[in-house]
Amino acid sequence: PPVQPYVGRFAPSPTGPLHFGSLVAATGSYLDARHHGGRWLLRIEDVDAPRCIPGAAEGILRTLERFGFEWDGEPVWQSRRTTAYADALERLKAGGHAYACACTRRELAEAPLARDGSRIYPGTCRNGPPPGRLARAWRVRVAGSIAFDDAVQGAQEEDLERELGDFVVLRADGLFAYQLAVVVDDADAGVTHVVRGADLLDSTGRQRYLQRLLGMAELHYAHLPLATNAAGEKLSKQTLASAIDEQPAAAALLAALAFLGQNPPSQLAGATLAEIWQWARAHWSLARVPRRHAIPAPGLQGFP
Ligand code: GLU
Repeated sequence: PPVQPYVGRFAPSPTGPLHFGSLVAATGSYLDARHHGGRWLLRIEDVDAPRCIPGAAEGILRTLERFGFEWDGEPVWQSRRTTAYADALERLKAGGHAYACACTRRELAEAPLARDGSRIYPGTCRNGPPPGRLARAWRVRVAGSIAFDDAVQGAQEEDLERELGDFVVLRADGLFAYQLAVVVDDADAGVTHVVRGADLLDSTGRQRYLQRLLGMAELHYAHLPLATNAAGEKLSKQTLASAIDEQPAAAALLAALAFLGQNPPSQLAGATLAEIWQWARAHWSLARVPRRHAIPAPGLQGFP
C-alpha cells in the first residue's frame, strides 16, 4: 500500500529570538518529519502584528540555519496571507457558522475564565448584536466537544461549548485570530502532522473544530513537553532571550535531544553538528518523548 505522505512544519512567532523551548519544538518536528521521510516546512507566524518584533523573524531564520535545520521550500509569512484567511471567514459566514459580535472586553470581564485565560463567551450576540451596537469582531458558534489522540500527551477531550464558548476568528482590531490562520495555513500547505509545544494543547480543540467546519482534513498531533526554569515556570522568550545564540549550537542541540528523552550518548559531547544530526535522525523515537518534565528539566543543564 502507498505510504501516507508526511508533511510537518515549524511555525515560530517572531516575538523574540529563538529560545530553548522553540529549539525543542523545531528539533522534535524536524526529526519526526525526517524520520518518516517527510517534508518539513517553515512558517513565520506574524499574524499578530502588534506582538511581533522587527527583525525577529530574520534572526530566527539565521539561528535555524546556524543549527543546520533544512526546510523545504520558502518560508510562508502569515502577514502575506490575509486573503486566504478572509476567504475562510467568508466560508464560515456562508455556512452560518460565524456571527458578528459587539461585546467589549470590559463587558465580558465578569464571564467565567476559560482554561487559556480568555473569558467563556456568554453568547450575547449569537442572534445578532443588540440594536444600536456596532459589530467589532467575528465569532464562531461552537457546539459540543472535541476529542483527539495526541501522540505524546494521550487521549484529549475538550468541551468547547462549556469550557470556552463561541470564539473569535476576526478580532476587533481587524486582525485574523491565530486559531483561524493556523488551520488555513496548515491546510493550504498540505500539513499532515503537527509537532509543537504543549502550551498549544489548549488551542487544538478550536483548530480541529475549525477544520471540521471548513471541511479540512484532520491532522495528527504530538505536543512536546514544555521547557521550564528551575521554578517550574514556562520559559518565556524574555527569560532565555539570548541563551540559544550564546551557546555553541552542538551543545544546545544535545540539550534539546536530552530534553526530548532521546538519550544522546556521552560520546557525542565533542561531536560536530552534522554528526549529532546524523545520530538523531537515525535514533529518533517519538515514543521516548516524555509528557512533561520533572523540575529542573534535565535537558536544561548548562542553561541559565
Ligand atoms: N506560533 C506558535 C508559537 O510560536 C506555534 C503555532 C503552532 O505550532 O501551531 O508558539
